[in-house]
Amino acid sequence: MEQKNLVDEIIRLKKERDAIILAHNYQVAEVQEVADVVGDSFALSKHAANTQHKVIVFCGVHFMAESAKILSPEKTVLLPALDAGCPMADMVTAERLREMKAKYPEAAVVCYVNSSAEVKAEADICCTSSNAVKVIKSVKNKQIIFAPDQNLGSYVAKKVPEKEIILWKGFCITHKRVRADEVKKIKELHPNAKLLVHPECEPEVQALADFLGSTSEIIKYAKEIPDKDIIIGTEEGVMHTLKKENPDKNFYLLSPGLVCTNMKKTRLQDVHDALLNMQHEISIDEEIRVKALKSLEEMLKIS
Ligand code: SF4
Repeated sequence: MEQKNLVDEIIRLKKERDAIILAHNYQVAEVQEVADVVGDSFALSKHAANTQHKVIVFCGVHFMAESAKILSPEKTVLLPALDAGCPMADMVTAERLREMKAKYPEAAVVCYVNSSAEVKAEADICCTSSNAVKVIKSVKNKQIIFAPDQNLGSYVAKKVPEKEIILWKGFCITHKRVRADEVKKIKELHPNAKLLVHPECEPEVQALADFLGSTSEIIKYAKEIPDKDIIIGTEEGVMHTLKKENPDKNFYLLSPGLVCTNMKKTRLQDVHDALLNMQHEISIDEEIRVKALKSLEEMLKIS
């Protein structure tokens, strides 16, 4: 089917199914274009929690669709590309987290949303990269286990020095690829450009940034600053919104390695097939869902 016909069919099926399409900022441009809402995981979780539609088509990776199902159990949540997972989320399991909790009985557990429902069920509260500092500050315990992203965790630890943060050793394979020497090279090429970096990058890359923030914070900041030349240190998909919203500015991707293959698995055809065949439906064990919901709700309460 041609792209235009595919888009028309998606719009028709969306109405027929009473569906909403949510797409992460890292999705391919054509999927972002067909979505009702494009955002980072925090913005999309909020939409998933509040939507009136019966069906949520989640164009992202597995843990994101799972979060939508945790928040909206009465809805049908579909993940168009079944094999779109997140390697970082897979770096922590509920069993290993329980072992860590047994080792640090005084510690609260703050869990990045990039994790499975089983892991969220073991946490006291969830966080995203936009609200991690606020979440950590809200926790009463001095000692906190932060899982799974050690780079986001060490960034937060610097911002909240009064807490003792125990870092899980997980990482994002996409953001970890960026090297400090690449930063130096691109800065030489564009000496007047501002460098905006995601806290999932390594600390030595973070140290060279003019601004550190989540994808939505990077999008907002890029729009607000008067600078015309901007280097982007997060996944390539964000360039679509940046260029669309700021046609008079020049954006440069910090590293060619900033492409998440899992985020790129969803294509228009998959969105179409998801709506046509109502595939691939997310389901979660109810006991796990209720516990994971508590961690997500704690986060939504303070955000
Ligand atoms: S960009 Fe990193 S954290 Fe996000 S889905 Fe890809 S691997 Fe996971």
